[in-house]
Amino acid sequence: MTQDAIRIEGLKKTYKGGKEALKGVDLTVPQGSVFGLLGPNGAGKSTLINILAGLVTKTAGHVSIWGWDQDVNPRQSRASIGVMPQELNLDPFFTPRGALEVQAGLYGVPKSERRSDEILELVGLTDKAEAYARTLSGGMRRRLLLGKALVHTPHVLVLDEPTAGVDIELRQMLWTNVRKLNRDTGMTIILTTHYLEEAEEMCDEIAIINHGEVVARDSTQNLLGQLDAKTMVIQPETPVGNLRDRSGISVSRRDDGTLLVSYRARQTSAEDVLEFLRENGIRIRDVRTEQADLEDVFLSLTRAG
Ligand code: ADP
Ligand code: MG
Repeated sequence: MTQDAIRIEGLKKTYKGGKEALKGVDLTVPQGSVFGLLGPNGAGKSTLINILAGLVTKTAGHVSIWGWDQDVNPRQSRASIGVMPQELNLDPFFTPRGALEVQAGLYGVPKSERRSDEILELVGLTDKAEAYARTLSGGMRRRLLLGKALVHTPHVLVLDEPTAGVDIELRQMLWTNVRKLNRDTGMTIILTTHYLEEAEEMCDEIAIINHGEVVARDSTQNLLGQLDAKTMVIQPETPVGNLRDRSGISVSRRDDGTLLVSYRARQTSAEDVLEFLRENGIRIRDVRTEQADLEDVFLSLTRAG
């Protein structure tokens, strides 16, 4: 059966006071994917996530989680999703183990099926299992929030800006854990981020959201392919004199003698560029190509707003 992990149709949210945070979002997230919701601050990412989590009420539209309509089957839809929120909202009086047990209780996970030890291990808090939450560092609290999102073994795990403001070590640890969960258990992962690098590194598919609207939605690879600007970086064998022009190819030089040859992949092939270099008598010692990155796609898509 092919079914979407999440299906969102015509989703709108207007906050009290009139802020239109979501202006009619349609979005599907395939089962088993690592899906990135990418957008600048204020784009509406947390609003969308919090609606999925049942923390914010939508103004209009439909949301299904793992095939369960949120309005028709609220209990099943809530049981299908685990959310690691952006904010660090932990009860300071619980220990990590206590917090996991309480969360499991809230989700109706029977004692015999609880996995607190396994989850503590996964998020690296085994030796802090009995420490008070208020004595935990910011990074540990964030890991505990990840653990809390996992107590009921949801089909879909949502991470809202999991690595905003965290150090590199924790970032790597979160990335590794998320990949492992996706690979080993097939869990569908949705993460929001305003770090392009994170989306590029982690996600199979990406939706770009800006001012409450989805402005692009494609595989990470296709989004990257949307920009066809390429640069060939050439180290010549010997210093290069003046060059004859060729349409579609522009050349600039670095002080160290390296040539940067820019072209559009759709109009000009790499072979055309090599021919151009041979015509100019250039012998190549070394060559590599550079491609537009997600940052360029992102800027070109969000500039309009
Ligand atoms: P993101 O997570 O992409 O940074 P948010 O979903 O948090 O964006 O916010 C989208 C817009 O909605 C912003 O303009 C924000 O100021 C506004 N907003 C968010 N939460 C509230 C709220 N509780 N009340 C009023 N406006 C809000
Ligand atoms: Mg947010």
